[in-house]
Amino acid sequence: MPGTFSKSFKILIADKTCSDLVHPGLTCMEAMKLNLVDGIIGGLKFYLPIFLIPLFMKIKDWKKVKTWKDFLKGYGRSCLFALCLNFCSFTGICFTYKWLPLFLTLPAGIGSLFFCFVPPKVRKAEGQGMFNMYVEFLIRRSRSKLIASIRQSKVVVTLLFSILNTCIVYGYLRKASINFWFTSFRITKQENDDKTLAKGCKLIHDEITCFDYLKQELKQTAKFAFALAAIKAIPGRISMLYKQPLEMPKRLLTKFDYEMFMFIMSLNGIFKYLFCLLNRKSRFSIETNCIVSSLISGVGFLFYPQYIVFTMAMTNAVESIYHCIEQSFKSRGKELPLVMKLINKFPLVYFMFLFTAGLDIQLRILYPSLVNKYTHKILSVLTNGKGDELAKNVIKLMIGFE
Ligand SMILES: [Zn+2]
Ligand SMILES: [Zn+2]
Repeated sequence: MPGTFSKSFKILIADKTCSDLVHPGLTCMEAMKLNLVDGIIGGLKFYLPIFLIPLFMKIKDWKKVKTWKDFLKGYGRSCLFALCLNFCSFTGICFTYKWLPLFLTLPAGIGSLFFCFVPPKVRKAEGQGMFNMYVEFLIRRSRSKLIASIRQSKVVVTLLFSILNTCIVYGYLRKASINFWFTSFRITKQENDDKTLAKGCKLIHDEITCFDYLKQELKQTAKFAFALAAIKAIPGRISMLYKQPLEMPKRLLTKFDYEMFMFIMSLNGIFKYLFCLLNRKSRFSIETNCIVSSLISGVGFLFYPQYIVFTMAMTNAVESIYHCIEQSFKSRGKELPLVMKLINKFPLVYFMFLFTAGLDIQLRILYPSLVNKYTHKILSVLTNGKGDELAKNVIKLMIGFE
């Protein structure tokens, strides 16, 4: 229990120095130098795939100087942020280690101030990710009966996911969803008089048969889902490529996340199939077809009932609903209410990161069982193993104490 933990932690730490807990065998000055080195390595490792994958996706632009300039600028700035975050967190803890509420939240919070160095696109995903991790902790820890019953029932949780999924997909139809989602489509075409396609289909796919569209979509989704599941199977194993290249396919087979693959395929496949089908056969409006198809496709969640997907759906749905409301004001030619104007001007993602990054890092170290395995992995790479080391020291001290 967090409360009991903080009491025993206080007693345990009373006669200890920061050297015992944070940097065994080193003085604060020596540890500081090491924090600099780990900060640089952590940033370089963490941000490399984030910037390298998009670069590989636009091989056509490799001849342009701008492509490389953007890559180096984005990567460099993000690494600089990682260095600030790591350095502030693990140097600042020498001053705050006795005070549990501020343990890492304050030093990491100060380091998070430099989050503005990260390019906006990456910042958005990272800020939302950090926030989602914290929401997950709250759901896991909540003692409310309602949340507990949701946590335990697969049916209820899938139903809720379906509703969130519907809000996001409907947002795409209204051109209000802008975030990445597994079932996404862009409405680029205007309606025309061509009678070869159903009205709804015309908006989401080219003048090809629905069957051809489905084939095309499933192929693309499969590629994407495969790439994601493969990246997940081999994180931090780039060295394996040249050290043990033959181990790679074996690892890919054994660690490949088939459930995640099926989740992405079914969520997208069922929706696209039903949406086309209903557009052709039903007499209802495109909106209704979209809602019905996305509600049913939410059943794909059963393949991968993970918190990480659920919290992602939660924040994406809230954003979609917000943009839908915003759009309805605009389409009626009405001015936005003051609250919405203020929200639009507020750097929400920056503050989401600022307030939750420190909390997430602290939770990983003090309450490792309440944090998902992705948070463990992400923070391990980002801090170049420093977070894991600190967590081990805390556990060692706790065991010694008991
Ligand atoms: Zn120290
Ligand atoms: Zn169609």
